[in-house]
Amino acid sequence: MRLDKFLAEAGLGSRSEVKILLKKGRVTVAGQVQKDGRFQIDKNTTAVAFDGAPLIYQEFYYYLLNKPQGVVSATKDQQFKTVVDLLRPEDYRPDIFPVGRLDKNTEGLLILTNDGALGHDLTQPKKHVEKEYYAQIDGQVTPQTVQQFAKGLLLKNGEQARPGELFIEKVTKSNTRNGWQSEIRVIIHEGKFHQVKRMFEAVDMYVLSLKRLRMGALSLDKDLALGAYRPLTADEIALLK
Ligand code: URA
Repeated sequence: MRLDKFLAEAGLGSRSEVKILLKKGRVTVAGQVQKDGRFQIDKNTTAVAFDGAPLIYQEFYYYLLNKPQGVVSATKDQQFKTVVDLLRPEDYRPDIFPVGRLDKNTEGLLILTNDGALGHDLTQPKKHVEKEYYAQIDGQVTPQTVQQFAKGLLLKNGEQARPGELFIEKVTKSNTRNGWQSEIRVIIHEGKFHQVKRMFEAVDMYVLSLKRLRMGALSLDKDLALGAYRPLTADEIALLK
C-alpha cells in the first residue's frame, strides 16, 4: 500500500497533514527517511517509524462509549457536540462513526468504529440485535403493561412495534403528570426511531430518562464515566460479528 495511506490509517492525520510530516523528513521506512507518500510498503512487514517510534498498522478501531446527554449520535453537527468529538485526538480517525443512534437526551452504550461492514451488520433490522435500556417513566407500570409490551404495541402513528420484554424495578407515587413514577428495564429487538419513548407513549406513559445498558452481548461497564470510552477487547469484537 502507499506510505501516505498507511500513515493516515496509523493515525498521523489526514492525507494532507501526512504530506507535510513526510516533507519534514519525520518518517523513515526501513531506517531511511522517506519523503514520498506514493512510496509502496507492505503494511504488515515494512518497518515504518515516525520521529523514530515504530508505527503499527491497525485498520479498524472499536470503542465502547458511555454517551452523555446533550451530544448527538452523528459525525458532524452544525449546532451540537457529536459523539465523535468525545474522542481524544490520538484516537480520532476521520472515518469513525457511531453504530446506530441514541437520542440527544439518551445516555449509555454506543459503539464507535470505522468498520463499516460491522456497523452495517449490527444495524440491519433483520438481525434483531437485542438492546436493553433502563428508564425512568412518568406512569404506573404494572404487570398489565408488561403483558402489553410482550404482545407488541401499536404505536401512535399506526406502526407496529415487535414484542419487548419489560421488567419493573420500582414504582412510586410522584407529582409527575401521571401521578406515578416507575423505574424499568426493557429489552427490544428492533431499532425504530425513538422506539422506547414511542412504546411508552402507546400506553400513555412518558420516558423521563433513558439509558442503554446493553447491545447484543456487549454490556456497558459499571465504572465507565459518562462521556468516557474504552477500546473493545478482541473477544468483544468477536462477539459482535
Ligand atoms: N429509544 C428511544 O426512544 N430513544 C433512544 O435513544 C433509544 C431507543
